[in-house]
Amino acid sequence: MASEEDSLASIPRLEFLGASHRPLLDLHPLRCANHKSSSADTPSANTPNAKTQTDQVGGDHTDRYATALRNNKEWAAQTAREYPDLFPTLATGQTPQILWIGCSDSRCPETTFLGLKPGDVFVHRNIANVLHPGDLSSAAAIEYAVQYLRVKHVVVCGHTACGGVAAAMGNKNLGILDPWLLPLRQLRERNLDLLQSLSPDEATMKLAELNVREGLNIVKQKGVVLNAIQERGLELHGLIYDVGSGVLSELDTQDSEEVIRARLTAFKTE
Ligand SMILES: [Zn+2]
Repeated sequence: MASEEDSLASIPRLEFLGASHRPLLDLHPLRCANHKSSSADTPSANTPNAKTQTDQVGGDHTDRYATALRNNKEWAAQTAREYPDLFPTLATGQTPQILWIGCSDSRCPETTFLGLKPGDVFVHRNIANVLHPGDLSSAAAIEYAVQYLRVKHVVVCGHTACGGVAAAMGNKNLGILDPWLLPLRQLRERNLDLLQSLSPDEATMKLAELNVREGLNIVKQKGVVLNAIQERGLELHGLIYDVGSGVLSELDTQDSEEVIRARLTAFKTE
């Protein structure tokens, strides 16, 4: 693998989240509504696909926001033509089969790389797909998806070149990210000998894998999840997404009988 590319893909993105980044709340809600109408905003059948493709590929300096709004209109029209029932159906509700817990990383758009459509995946993403046991946001997403949407699959997905995982493998002070990444550092501490026996790239990947496994453990310690597993066969999966190839790998996350019995004894509630 191109280790230089990997490090460029991970470390700078973490730095991008640091103090030098412009304020995240520097938003202008009315800009979209008041956005000046121009020919560039008007969907056109004459818009060459090649131009759109060029705009979407990284490396140039095209303004992504303006391009995105233009793309949206084209995408909505094309999707409505290809799947006439999709939007009317979605307007009445959602019945996703998958709860996806992944990283916020821009390179990990789950619905896109799964080849699925709006309505197929209920999503919770955060930096480094960390699941804190007391985190209200992820807990609410999991409970809503499992108990009310009755998803059939829960996926926890990590990925290669994850900036959050790389940060937890380093020792820089990262401000608010430090408490967020605490579970990753705890995994690093608990698996120090193993991680130190590996190359830096291998160790980062191993920590990403351990993080997925730990995330699944957190999910499986929730009463609604244990009930759904027992009562209707809810399935849990651990995946790693390779941002350099677009390919998913499935981790073997099968628990032993002993682990399952201990978990049920400790966490099953009435
Ligand atoms: Zn990540």
